[in-house]
Amino acid sequence: MKITIVGTGYVGLVTGTTLAELGNEVYCVDVDQEKVRLMTEGTVPIYEPNLEEMFLRNIQAQRLFFTTDLQMALKQSEVVFLALPTPPGEDGSADLTYVLGVAEQIGSLMDSYKIVVNKSTVPVGTADKVRSVIAGKTNIEFDVVSNPEFLREGFAVEDSMNPARIVVGCGSERARSIMSEIYRPFTNTGIPIIFMDEKSSELTKYAANSFLAVKITFMNEIANYCEMVGADVDMVRLGMGSDDRIGHRFLFPGIGYGGSCFPKDVKALIESGHQSGFDFQILKATEKVNKVQKTILVDEIEKFLGTLQGKKIAVWGLAFKANTDDIREASSLDNIRMLLDRGASVTAYDLVAESNVRKILGDQISYAPSMYEAIENADALLIATEWPEFKNPNFGIMAQRLKNKAIFDGRNMFSLDLARQHGFYYNSIGRTTVG
Ligand code: NAD
Repeated sequence: MKITIVGTGYVGLVTGTTLAELGNEVYCVDVDQEKVRLMTEGTVPIYEPNLEEMFLRNIQAQRLFFTTDLQMALKQSEVVFLALPTPPGEDGSADLTYVLGVAEQIGSLMDSYKIVVNKSTVPVGTADKVRSVIAGKTNIEFDVVSNPEFLREGFAVEDSMNPARIVVGCGSERARSIMSEIYRPFTNTGIPIIFMDEKSSELTKYAANSFLAVKITFMNEIANYCEMVGADVDMVRLGMGSDDRIGHRFLFPGIGYGGSCFPKDVKALIESGHQSGFDFQILKATEKVNKVQKTILVDEIEKFLGTLQGKKIAVWGLAFKANTDDIREASSLDNIRMLLDRGASVTAYDLVAESNVRKILGDQISYAPSMYEAIENADALLIATEWPEFKNPNFGIMAQRLKNKAIFDGRNMFSLDLARQHGFYYNSIGRTTVG
């Protein structure tokens, strides 16, 4: 099948590459000329494990193409996926400018039947809006389908090649049969495809992400309470998670959720509710708790050091989570800004996210080429991302380099026993502070 993907970011590039891997001819369209140039030359513009090999293989096989020319791509293909940004607008609702703008272009440029498949995360009713925008520009037949994306950054290739389920909101038999065809390689192996109406499909995505944000936040509150009463959140987590109605996943407490999806999707669902006169109380509480949770350790560092004025704080990890270079809404940034505001200097280390942070913070902070250089002479270490390389560090080197042997761990990387054995002051989330 010949397929166009409009928007070649995390979702578009991974989706395009996966569809090419399955034998389709895929045209990835983006407005960012530099990005298109890089990809055409064989450079992957984002960090995503296992993507590069598949990306290069499909370029070589002439199944994966990159272009800024939407008209050319549309001429080639019957199916057009939209993987465009839907950032929060001023009131928190999803900004549909990109999606509706491209829908209008498609309406003007299409010269034969098209299926417009929306992979962007969008509020209920967006398929209708896309339909009416396209219909305003053409008399040619088309269908609009909602097909939300559930991939996780850091596992995007794995998730894309082996999704837990495929959700398709679709009112047309013709589109349904083509969508079934596209996803047959997955459904053949037993992966479920769930067909539903477009509105339910659009809401499924927001409901799934919001539920996960609530689950994390609930656990963060339990962790904070654990600290007050002397319970250990790791034990509580294991005890709770063993109940298969609850499960072990998403029960790890930390310094809040971030990233390009949870914060904006929670906000957008609150605002969608608001527009329909519905009050999402649980989501409002989740946002409020998460905002405080993100920087909960800065006060702890200040308390430990007496003041942050003139202190040097090392930060391990800048990405919003491990295995990605994405720093959108990352807790690291909130912490760094607060540390700087209170007079500290910051030296940060992250193997893949540094260049993205440089674009935002420039030389307001220093960047270290290794985790151990970051802590040289630092008054305290803050761990903001759960990168695997932080899991088993050389505690001997850490003890030598960190002035006060003080670790503030926002991701609960180490056991309390280990911290005790090496004589660290170790403050983590939902557990007794050591030292
Ligand atoms: P992104 O910002 O990484 O990529 C979007 C791309 O669209 C960029 O390359 C941008 O240049 C391009 N673009 C903007 N306007 C365009 C236009 N008019 N024509 C062509 N290209 C254009 O975004 P993303 O993270 O891939 O997210 C895309 C959508 O998917 C969002 O709605 C997001 O909520 C959703 N989503 C994201 C993830 C994730 O983990 N990132 C997961 C599931 C769903």
